[in-house]
Amino acid sequence: MYKFDEENLIREIKERKAKRILLQLPEGLKKEASRLTKFIQENSNSEVIVAGEPCWGACDIALDEAKNLKADLIILYGHASFMKVDFPILYIEARYEANIEELIERSLKEIKDFKKIAIVCSVQHMHQLPITEKILKENDKEVFIPPKKGFAFYSGQVLGCEYNGLKLIKDKFDAILVIGNDFHALGAALAIPKPVILIDPFNKEVYSMEKKREKIIRQRIIAINKVRDARKVGIILGNKPGQHFGSFNYIKNELEKDDKEVVLIVMDEINDDKLVNLYDIQAFIETACPRISIEDYARFSKPVVNYREALVVINDLTFEQLFEQGIV
Ligand code: SF4
Repeated sequence: MYKFDEENLIREIKERKAKRILLQLPEGLKKEASRLTKFIQENSNSEVIVAGEPCWGACDIALDEAKNLKADLIILYGHASFMKVDFPILYIEARYEANIEELIERSLKEIKDFKKIAIVCSVQHMHQLPITEKILKENDKEVFIPPKKGFAFYSGQVLGCEYNGLKLIKDKFDAILVIGNDFHALGAALAIPKPVILIDPFNKEVYSMEKKREKIIRQRIIAINKVRDARKVGIILGNKPGQHFGSFNYIKNELEKDDKEVVLIVMDEINDDKLVNLYDIQAFIETACPRISIEDYARFSKPVVNYREALVVINDLTFEQLFEQGIV
């Protein structure tokens, strides 16, 4: 069950004297939109407008909508602060309340062959790191919580595109325990070539990411090779405030040296319908969210790779280096 922190929410709105609020919720929390709207309007002098476009992450802030609507505050649920923007934003992190002790006990079987364990979580589970650390230590494990790096707001926090804290200490641990969902655990497995075990408090499951990692790696090799073979390549630039990964100009120049024709394209949401309409472009490199190319692999009818994978296309990295250093 999520904690919506209503008391803090109203106090902050009043302190900021917000008159018009743009309320942004991730897809999994959108069902709370009407309840929260009513609650805010009944308990403050603010008008609430719900952002109806998808919100996939803390990178995905509806700045244009807020400015067009002349809102004076964005409330972004389910995320911690990600980057500096020139607009007032109130982040409400929405912790997920659940007793996970039994799941942690279950995870001990999965990590029985490893002594040194890194533990990380998505922001909804930050409060569950201490109990995880305690139980692991009681079971004779050495525990490592990575420092906050890059887009992470907390030590031990991971995002779908942010595993640099783990990478920084990767020589210290044998395996990674992720508290969160399949998406965050898969990201860890693709970022660091070590065993990753997921503790999933939502579905009350514990499992290894190994099989899924192997399957995704096979898919990525296919996609990268297809982009290599393409003569005309589209480089997609993200239009969302926090979705700019790598230098598109660098990739463009390198592809052109290899006699490929390159078209620069800007998009908010990247989906197959848009790519199909660009009918003469054979393959795409997306420099927006690095997980799109991976998560939507089966939905795309043309090959799509992310920035780090594009480094293999232009021969800056070998496949081995990419998988060693991380696809994300
Ligand atoms: S860029 Fe992608 S993975 Fe990173 S926070 Fe945004 S949606 Fe999540």
